[in-house]
Amino acid sequence: MIQRTNQGPRDEIVLVCRRLYERGLVAGPDGNVSIRQADGSILVTPSGLSKVDVTPDDLVVVTLDGRVRAGRHAPSSELRMHLRIYQRRPDVGAIVHAHPPTATGFAVAGEAFVAPVLPEVILQLGEVPLVPYATPGSEELADAFEPFLANHDGFLMANHGATTVAPTLATAHQRMESLEHAARILYVARAIGGVHELSVADVQSLRVRREGSR
Ligand SMILES: [Zn+2]
Repeated sequence: MIQRTNQGPRDEIVLVCRRLYERGLVAGPDGNVSIRQADGSILVTPSGLSKVDVTPDDLVVVTLDGRVRAGRHAPSSELRMHLRIYQRRPDVGAIVHAHPPTATGFAVAGEAFVAPVLPEVILQLGEVPLVPYATPGSEELADAFEPFLANHDGFLMANHGATTVAPTLATAHQRMESLEHAARILYVARAIGGVHELSVADVQSLRVRREGSR
């Protein structure tokens, strides 16, 4: 359980980086985590450092249009994607990008999580679309998110990884863990005989609960 009492956003990001690394959702310098701060600036992980080594002082402060305000490292190479999400979604307060192996396997296979199969996924994430491939770190990758941003909180990224967003970092992190957990379950279900989808009525009642809690 992540301890969050009396912690500022820097400590919270560092803990989530360690959790991502310990659960194998990133390898070394993969992935990036950010928080929108009260003054509107973005606190983001640095480029190049392993997630297990990141300290609170390594984090970089940037403006919403990408100017570096403070930090001894360059910001994450995926900063453009983070900024685009914050610009388009005022409700988003934190973003987690990782390369969870099973979920990314679905993204490499060209699959989105659109089948209504697991109640927890529908409640936590809703439908998870597949964002078309673009070069990591590029403006084109930020562009590729555009059609999906308004209506989704979790995204598979073709041939790359996954991104989750939420009002708080705790929830964005939980969503990333849920995404990978669901991917593992789906993978096993297929291996042992197939996936049974939930009924339309069951999915509708879950959607109502999700909209009520958003
Ligand atoms: Zn990545």
